[in-house]
Amino acid sequence: MISLSHERRSASTVFAPHSASGDRSRGGLGSPAALYLAAAGVGTITLADGDTVDLTNLQRQILHTTESIGRPKAASGREALEKINPEVKVVPLQQRLQDEGLGALVASSSVVLDCSDNFATRHAVNRACVRHRKPLVSGAAVRFDGQVSVFDLRDDLSPCYHCLFPENADLEEVRCAVMGVFAPLTGIIGTVQAAEALKLLAGAGETLKGRLLILDALAMQWRTVKLVKDPACTVCSRVMA
Ligand SMILES: [Zn+2]
Repeated sequence: MISLSHERRSASTVFAPHSASGDRSRGGLGSPAALYLAAAGVGTITLADGDTVDLTNLQRQILHTTESIGRPKAASGREALEKINPEVKVVPLQQRLQDEGLGALVASSSVVLDCSDNFATRHAVNRACVRHRKPLVSGAAVRFDGQVSVFDLRDDLSPCYHCLFPENADLEEVRCAVMGVFAPLTGIIGTVQAAEALKLLAGAGETLKGRLLILDALAMQWRTVKLVKDPACTVCSRVMA
């Protein structure tokens, strides 16, 4: 998860904490997202990642190099980002954020990017963003399929992640862990996430709020699906009450 805070135009990029183990598809979205946010001069970037760099990560986690193997990803990421832009403040959080820690980070952020690979984290980050009314830039990439959306939870009428993907989607979770991901797809989706985060911070243009952007990388075709708030959503419906 990457969280961006707004003082001095800062954005918190929160790489979402990772799933337990064995998942080779994780972490690919946060690398390009963080690189572009740092290069763009976002004030404060918080990298939340409890994992260490493994050789198998390097094909898509372009924030790290062979020299980073065995090191905590948050610390390795901070070093890489500071080399690109020493003006940016990078806060490495080498932990799997949960409950209060996650809530506190989200509350202090201007924008949150979910770059995780598992539903437990996605739902935890979404709940925190709903609670603290923060815009959430959500990205996902599995095999050759990518998707991005903005859940702008400052707006009571905005759908949340849970409206779209209610909890208990066990089948998807298994597929994500087993199938892996086409490496350049993570670069494309993570870069779109950075673009949307920068637009949110700048208040510029029209974000992907209320729209799910879907990429079929095998056909290299994009399509957009309209999203609506689920009035019965157990996570965000109370906001409307
Ligand atoms: Zn909802």
